[in-house]
Amino acid sequence: MSETNQQYEAVIGLEVHAQLSTRTKLFCGDTTLFGQEPNTQVSAISLGHPGTLPKTNEAAVRYAIMMGLACGCSITKDNYFARKNYFYPDLPKGYQISQHTTPICTGGTVEITTSLGKRAIQLNRIHIEEDAGKSIHDIDPDNTLIDLNRAGTPLIEIVTEPDLHTSEEAYEYVTAIRKLVRWLNICDGNMEEGSLRCDANISVRPVGSKTLGTKVEVKNLNSIRNLKKAIDVEIARLIKLVDAGEPVIQQTRSFDADTDTTFAIRDKEDANDYRYFPDPDLAPFQLTDTLLNDIKAAMPVLPNVLLQQLQTIYGLSTYDAAQVSEEKTDADYFLAVAAHTKAYKAIANWMMGPLKLLPDQQALTPERLAQLIVLVESGDVNFSIAAQKLLPLVMQHPDHPADLAKQYQLIQVQDNQQLDNWVNLVLEKMPDKVTEYKKGKKGLIGLFVGEVKKMSKGQADPKIVTQLLEEKLSQ
Ligand code: ADP
Ligand code: MG
Repeated sequence: MSETNQQYEAVIGLEVHAQLSTRTKLFCGDTTLFGQEPNTQVSAISLGHPGTLPKTNEAAVRYAIMMGLACGCSITKDNYFARKNYFYPDLPKGYQISQHTTPICTGGTVEITTSLGKRAIQLNRIHIEEDAGKSIHDIDPDNTLIDLNRAGTPLIEIVTEPDLHTSEEAYEYVTAIRKLVRWLNICDGNMEEGSLRCDANISVRPVGSKTLGTKVEVKNLNSIRNLKKAIDVEIARLIKLVDAGEPVIQQTRSFDADTDTTFAIRDKEDANDYRYFPDPDLAPFQLTDTLLNDIKAAMPVLPNVLLQQLQTIYGLSTYDAAQVSEEKTDADYFLAVAAHTKAYKAIANWMMGPLKLLPDQQALTPERLAQLIVLVESGDVNFSIAAQKLLPLVMQHPDHPADLAKQYQLIQVQDNQQLDNWVNLVLEKMPDKVTEYKKGKKGLIGLFVGEVKKMSKGQADPKIVTQLLEEKLSQ
């Protein structure tokens, strides 16, 4: 960063749209499946034909509340849906149904960790609205095509206060949101398929100033990496303008990932005339305490809380705890195995190691993984043999891992007599190396251990073998 840049501070507010993974649309029964034939998931209600009557999807409302509770928002009890009127080819009704003055969740925070530490990003609101259709520009060279399958799919829009200051914070914030919606199982978080979309509002101001600068809004950010890049180039562009004394025009801009630049798509007039009014076909809806308590009771332990518990209750390192709780399914799996064995660190090692290589990382039942771990912890089977030989057998045969270990002769030999024989044989076979070792080339111990392992077909306990070798070689 040049010295000039340090005179300015960037201010960023993010708007994240998350498609809720309800089976059907927000106001009708059309399915929300992704990737179907264009225009096959569209009913008269999606199109807003006269006389059709929308009905609110309760699951969507529940999902929005779950997100609000997870972020510590206040939940609005008296809600209504409003029509936001505008014309766009992919908006079949000519209006979008949204929440206007009564977002279902207000306030709240999302905790992030950056290189500077932990910070809680302030939310402004979370509201429910329906998605529009999709305009497709890259199939027909002469025409824009319209696919209305997506029209009416439920979204939540999560809006922050202008509370972020760096692209790193934005990156961590969207990463945290994606993790949270997946954790709650309310959105698949897939940015490539557009299930999670983010617009970045960016302005700059002199350091120390309390007033906000004029903002630009950057759209079409289809990955978290691109969001970070777009923010960086936009901050640099704005600082250059302001530094040169040129005005910043309030604009909507688009990010071009091929050239790493942003370009204006429209200048934004301040007063868009959306002519909001309460949707006359949808009755206002009140949330009861019973419903809210129901939803609270069914909430999973949140990722940050679990991350702490994995460290305090299960004694995992910060790194291991983060690794095994990246996805909720992983965390659930860890906890299920932990119900069968207290070798918690070993569970984490198995999950991050041998199980990662399986096509289905959770194909092994928690109970059977625990049985495998017990075999290794007791010293009956050596870890690498367990990972490389026993695990594939356990995946193929329903037998108890201990029985399979016996059957396939994978039990580690800890019997001193037997080990002694192998060690003697190896030392007799390599007199030169023994002399070298005795002259000080202590690194050769690895070679001897390796030879004993080979001779025993992997069954010799390397710890005991090392001890025996060291004893004999020091004589
Ligand atoms: P709009 O009506 O243009 O959508 P909103 O007031 O709804 O604007 O804010 C949209 C987003 O922009 C919010 O996340 C908000 O925090 C952010 N925002 C508003 N003003 C600024 C600003 N001057 N600089 C950066 N972000 C801003
Ligand atoms: Mg906006």
